[in-house]
Amino acid sequence: MMNASTTTTQKAKTQAGFPPAPSEAHQKANFKKDTVDFQALLTQALTQPGQLSTAYKAFHNFSILNQALAFKQCLERGLQVSPLASFNSWKEKGRMVQKGQKAISLFMPLTKKIEAETEQGKTEEKSRTFFALKPHWFVLSQTEGNEAEFPALPAWNLSCALEFLDVEKVDFEMMNGNCQGYATARKIAVNPVAAFPLKTAIHEMAHVLLGHTTEADCADSELTPRNIAEVEAEAVAYIVTSILGTPGQESSRAYIQGWLGSEPITDQSIRKIFACADKIMKAGQQSN
Ligand SMILES: [Zn+2]
Repeated sequence: MMNASTTTTQKAKTQAGFPPAPSEAHQKANFKKDTVDFQALLTQALTQPGQLSTAYKAFHNFSILNQALAFKQCLERGLQVSPLASFNSWKEKGRMVQKGQKAISLFMPLTKKIEAETEQGKTEEKSRTFFALKPHWFVLSQTEGNEAEFPALPAWNLSCALEFLDVEKVDFEMMNGNCQGYATARKIAVNPVAAFPLKTAIHEMAHVLLGHTTEADCADSELTPRNIAEVEAEAVAYIVTSILGTPGQESSRAYIQGWLGSEPITDQSIRKIFACADKIMKAGQQSN
């Protein structure tokens, strides 16, 4: 029998650097630990046009899931959606968090070391990474001090994203004129007369990255039956095109909301959607 005991919890590297040591001056935010309403985050993204791009502009060095979380907390607490950083990062920029300000909670990766006893009686150390909500971040409007400079928004480019993610865009060779695009294995094709070519390209990339094309080829027309793989791919396309400010969200929104109205999307699916959108956004900025 495994005799596992938790020893230490170490902080893994995060995009925003290490979080600060807790300070008494800064109370914990009123944000329930480890209970994130993923359905509400997705609904928020779908129902508040402009939210995704506003959040991206302010929080682009964070994951899209964390951007949505930060945006939600700013709205709930009447905070201006403005650049976000840890207590120490603000300090490095010559700004201090105002006294009494509550931190914003975001997901961060933590590595848990577990000591397990093997059958031979030896002790083995194993590490496991998981994500937990931690209140360590503050927006610009919660701080005071020097004028701070922020990095410019990185440009995004489809061919760069394709190359970085090892997805090949091939010529469209389907006779069905209704077909907007399709994906097979790691290849995608977009109808040259597709209504929203970039949205379709991202939808097909999402099929590849979410593993849908290892199960079956994906071909998309107005007649494609509604299923969870389609909702996931469409939600990724919706999020990425909303951030980029390119057209085609209206039909995606109706499609996803139609699905949400009849069947819930699992939290696991919603996390996959946000993570995939994140991957596509990051990959498209690699040449910068
Ligand atoms: Zn599809």
